Amino acid sequence: MLRQLIYRSRATTPMTDEDIRKIVDDSLPFNTAHDITGLLLFDGEFFFQVLEGASDSILLLFEHLKSDARHTNIIKVLDTTIRQREFGKWSLKPFVFNHHNNCYWLPSGLKIRRDSRAFFLLNSFATGQWRNCVSAEYRSKLKRTLFIEERVVDAFPNSEIQFAFQPIVDIKNGVISSLEALLRTPDGAFPDVFLSSLSESERYVFDLKSKAVAIAQGAKLLKPGQALSVNLLPGAITHTSNVAEQLIRYLEAVKLAPEQLIVEVTESEMVKESDAFYTAVDSLRSSGIRLALDDFGAGYAGLSLLADFMPDKIKLDRAITRGIHENGPRQAILQAVFEFANATGSHLIVEGVESFEEWLWLYNVGVQKFQGFLFAKPKLNGVNAINFDTSAFSSTEENDL
Ligand code: C2E
Ligand code: MN
Ligand code: MN
Repeated sequence: MLRQLIYRSRATTPMTDEDIRKIVDDSLPFNTAHDITGLLLFDGEFFFQVLEGASDSILLLFEHLKSDARHTNIIKVLDTTIRQREFGKWSLKPFVFNHHNNCYWLPSGLKIRRDSRAFFLLNSFATGQWRNCVSAEYRSKLKRTLFIEERVVDAFPNSEIQFAFQPIVDIKNGVISSLEALLRTPDGAFPDVFLSSLSESERYVFDLKSKAVAIAQGAKLLKPGQALSVNLLPGAITHTSNVAEQLIRYLEAVKLAPEQLIVEVTESEMVKESDAFYTAVDSLRSSGIRLALDDFGAGYAGLSLLADFMPDKIKLDRAITRGIHENGPRQAILQAVFEFANATGSHLIVEGVESFEEWLWLYNVGVQKFQGFLFAKPKLNGVNAINFDTSAFSSTEENDL
């Protein structure tokens, strides 16, 4: 099968025309042997390359390209199967365009459909509408730290279930903004197995009741200014007529204010048209409890849910965060969701941040709140220590490449 892969990257050092010619000369033997064609653009700082050929050869070449020290910030823009080569026999001849006045000319021998995706992307590269990578300067100057000590509480007495807590951090302000309570069974197992072992109605009743434990334990772990997040199935909200009252009772028992509680609901199960759901949402809000849309981007609900629900927090799922620093489509989604959050006064929380590179890209575009193993893993009846220091990471990639 034919594959087309397009990526952007940044030159590690200034490049002369001679250097560019050398890149092309170096790549020619491999590309000819594997029948790879395409196009290379260089604008004085950034590369834009289209590769076309057999799927296996393209993947092999891309793996190899990723380790080439002459470029960094490699971002996959498009990776798709194609019927025929967009760039015909055009074989990686580079063309360099004048980036000072955003002018470029397509080489006359190059035939490309003007309505193709490749042409669209080439055009946006050439007109500079895509510069969303972390600059070396930003990277070297950025200094942020967050050091928080571990906290533990005694296991909740006589309870078959317990909770693990994971912090949501605000690195700009150097604080934990909230703790998320995650259900754990007596043997420490994860919630999905346990929840699915119950019948539907048992599950909803149990889910809500378990929040008494989450709230009691959370109250002991919270510091002033921090909020507690708990997860509830949408069904647990709609199948109880007095969710808000019930939660308020749990909060009052441990002297927490309603404003300190955030209820996270996943979109996966949510029924968009459910009147019962929105009635419950209203009663939660009017009692002061806030709401988060959990795992956004991973479930079934669409954008109309986002518009109707107007969550106080949007938690972007790990499916979008994963490898975001090198993935053009995920970057575009993040930016659209971030813009939506800012336009509606909702806080964006990015979940599942595991690597420094993911975090750096997100922080660079302005995201402020993060949750993930990079900062702390969930801890049973406690909160793990956080030892986050950008200077421990910042020079690594440039040296590695
Ligand atoms: P969630 O609400 O999205 O919770 C975050 C999950 O992501 C947690 O899994 C956490 O351990 C995991 N996680 C956090 N950071 C990272 C990371 O950097 N990388 C990766 N790979 N994973 C990370 P956990 O504890 O297994 O919970 C799974 C799901 O179970 C939760 O997803 C939530 O939807 C549900 N759940 C948890 N507690 C409850 C509860 O009390 N009631 C209900 N209905 N559902 C719950
Ligand atoms: Mn959650
Ligand atoms: Mn989530």
